[in-house]
Amino acid sequence: MAKWVYTFGDGKAEGAAEMKALLGGKGANIAEMSNLGLPVPPGFTITTEVCTYFYAHDRQYPAELRDQVSAALDHVGQLAGRRFGDVEDPLLVSVRSGARASMPGMMDTVLNLGLSDLTVQAVAAAGDARFAYDSYRRFITMYSNVVLGLDHHHFEEILQTYKDDNGYSLDTDLGADDWKEIIVAYKKLVETELGKPFPQDPHEQLWGAIGAVFGSWMNARAITYRRLHDIPESWGTAVNVQAMVFGNMGETSATGVAFTRNPSTGDKRLYGEFLVNAQGEDVVAGIRTPQDITEAARLESGSERPSLEVLMPEAYAEFSGICQTLELHYRDMQDVEFTIERGKLWMLQTRAGKRTTKAALKVAVDMCREGLISRDEAILRIDPAGLDQLLHPTIDPSAERTVLAKGLPASPGAASGEIVFNSEDAVAAKQAGRKVILVRIETSPEDIHGMHAAEGILTTRGGMTSHAAVVARGMGKPCVSGAGSIRVDYTAETLTAGGKTLRKGDMVTIDGGSGQVLAGRVPMLQPELSGDFATLMVWADAARRMGVRTNAETPADARAAVQFGAEGIGLSRTEHMFFDEGRIVAVREMILADDEKGRRQALAKLLPMQRADFVELFEIMKGKPVTIRLLDPPLHEFLPKTEEEIAEVAKGLGVHPQKLRERAEELHEFNPMLGFRGCRLAISYPEIAEMQARAIFEAAVEAGKATGEPVVPEVMVPLVAIRQEFDLVKARIDAMAAAVSKEKGVEIKYHVGTMIELPRACLQAADIARTAEFFSFGTNDLTQTTYGLSRDDAAQFLGPYLQRGILEQDPFVTLDQVGVGELVKIAAERGRSVRPDIKLGICGEHGGDPASIRFCETVALDYVSCSPFRVPIARLAAAQAAIEHGKAAVSEA
Ligand code: PEP
Ligand code: MG
Repeated sequence: MAKWVYTFGDGKAEGAAEMKALLGGKGANIAEMSNLGLPVPPGFTITTEVCTYFYAHDRQYPAELRDQVSAALDHVGQLAGRRFGDVEDPLLVSVRSGARASMPGMMDTVLNLGLSDLTVQAVAAAGDARFAYDSYRRFITMYSNVVLGLDHHHFEEILQTYKDDNGYSLDTDLGADDWKEIIVAYKKLVETELGKPFPQDPHEQLWGAIGAVFGSWMNARAITYRRLHDIPESWGTAVNVQAMVFGNMGETSATGVAFTRNPSTGDKRLYGEFLVNAQGEDVVAGIRTPQDITEAARLESGSERPSLEVLMPEAYAEFSGICQTLELHYRDMQDVEFTIERGKLWMLQTRAGKRTTKAALKVAVDMCREGLISRDEAILRIDPAGLDQLLHPTIDPSAERTVLAKGLPASPGAASGEIVFNSEDAVAAKQAGRKVILVRIETSPEDIHGMHAAEGILTTRGGMTSHAAVVARGMGKPCVSGAGSIRVDYTAETLTAGGKTLRKGDMVTIDGGSGQVLAGRVPMLQPELSGDFATLMVWADAARRMGVRTNAETPADARAAVQFGAEGIGLSRTEHMFFDEGRIVAVREMILADDEKGRRQALAKLLPMQRADFVELFEIMKGKPVTIRLLDPPLHEFLPKTEEEIAEVAKGLGVHPQKLRERAEELHEFNPMLGFRGCRLAISYPEIAEMQARAIFEAAVEAGKATGEPVVPEVMVPLVAIRQEFDLVKARIDAMAAAVSKEKGVEIKYHVGTMIELPRACLQAADIARTAEFFSFGTNDLTQTTYGLSRDDAAQFLGPYLQRGILEQDPFVTLDQVGVGELVKIAAERGRSVRPDIKLGICGEHGGDPASIRFCETVALDYVSCSPFRVPIARLAAAQAAIEHGKAAVSEA
């Protein structure tokens, strides 16, 4: 016969912690606590399989369920010494949902079930009449709300009116007779609203509650929650029925919640709150202020109300011992619920406690040192994405905030500065030593220098993938995007928000973690990169196989990345260097020149600047690998747009502005993604590639002399589709290396490889690998070219699929096995088939995404490269990937 019900209590249980899939998290852990001999009120769990059955059979229960529930109720009654439905000494129960994964708020709990007009009298006669009727009215309210679907507020109105009429202000002012009157009114309300009386038969009540829990699995709240947290519908929920224990039986009773360590700092000290003479819901409801559990916490908080430690020393001693037992047993920080009924302690729940990243690091490192967990386990316990919280300054949680507006939390961290409305002002202010927030309606590639100069970026338009958001994340700067309620007036240089008008130079603070825009300067907490963070990172570095490099082109980024542990540069986008204020004019001259001679003249101006860039990068990287990519974007991105800019360039070139306008028109690229860009620039204008190659090699020689640790540059050709393209450009690079080597009289070591960022290149990888020494997967372009969509179009196009669950993850965010990931795998295999030691890396945004990093481990890439602020995330994610992949390999073998 199928087993649908599992009992627990009295030091034994039919279930155990490993049975979460069957019993749900709550049920499995209660069973485990029972098995550990901890004081758990007896009860039983109806399995998640019943839930699955229920939905597969038109909301019918399996035939054996009634008998099994009835037998379990008898068993519980024996352990508790009371019978369910007995009119003399009734057993009361709680009914709670409990899925495999925690789903807070999916369904409320029903407490005190089993009370009726008859049984309440028995409870009252046994001692405390007030307690009995108070419990009954709570039960009617909860049951009516959760099971019968009547809104709370109906009941609250009745209670409030009663209190007003009788001159009471607090619930505790009411006595047994008051509650009796209220109960009459409550029952009348139920009958009027539903056309039938409040159920008096405890068994009917119980099945009503069980049905409501299973029914709640498909309510709108639960469906949304599951979708947001990737919880499959097929898991179902369990139902836990458990003998009631009462924290509201007077001054020797209490109820509370606690963490075995501090969940915000990770300190190894019991941390929690309780209320005397209360039920669990009262602690959560926040009507009364809870008291500290330990005396140390009370002293720290300065509370005048006694701690549990002092108030009920025996129960406290037992409780703190149990907390230790649970930690040792689960080898993790626990979040527990307990009740003390007339001095007797009962444990109601335990589970792994949610914690901040800071606490997670401390707990993992401490537990490893305490010998509770291994280093691998410590590494696996930290969510890499959560490290973001630590790597940026954040607003001091105790600081006062005046919120002016709210936008999207586009790039984490917080920053304060004077408002400026354009990039030139940002640069000027920075040079004068002032900190600024760049405020734009939206940003474009021409704002790069302003964004670099600013502490943070605020835009009123654009989403999480807008230019501002993507670039700010790359730079590791805070950004709030799409703050639509802010009006920006560029001419007046003002912004208006929340009824206030601010001018250029006024101080604001943005919080890229919450999207808030705040008035004035707000106190911040600085990131803490030493201590537990540093320790865990050392462990992670020892565990990982893949290297972690950074995408960087500015000295500031390169330095930051090295501090964050980058082992080299995986992508230096040279075009960013071209946007620099001092160079853009020469770049434009180069582009707009109509013959090679003109281009070479302009390139000659750029050479020393470009060489200086590389010298600085190589000096910072001191012998670490540096991949430099030749110019990639379509040329029109550099073209002058305003009349002023056109005039300036025309003057530099000595031509009429009109001629320039025509040339600009000619160069306009209609297909900026696949058109005249990438290696096609170097093929059509080899002198550009030559200038860049010369700059790279001369810089390598110069920096090598200065540091004594020469960089072996990796020159990278972008957007290659077939080997022949690559070979044309490689020939120029090789020739330039030979020339510089001869001029300088030194041997130059270098590598030439290619970006793999087109589906065709993936398929051609074997051929390309004949001449390319390395591949770097440019998964930004590869994603777009695979899906045939730009990132923004994809958001619109795929959004509904993600919402409906047709797609489980956004393929633009995470490399998946089918799609872009599959192409990467093909290219890696084909590349290696021809050149077994080919170096393979990834430098698209996915290089900083933990799920994609896991994928990269499975295809054995040599390294991932990401923006500087994501380097620690990537180091940790790579370590986790190596550990998990190693485990998977062992279990397969
Ligand atoms: C890429 O395409 O993934 C890449 C790194 O290059 P970019 O983003 O500069 O096009
Ligand atoms: Mg690209």
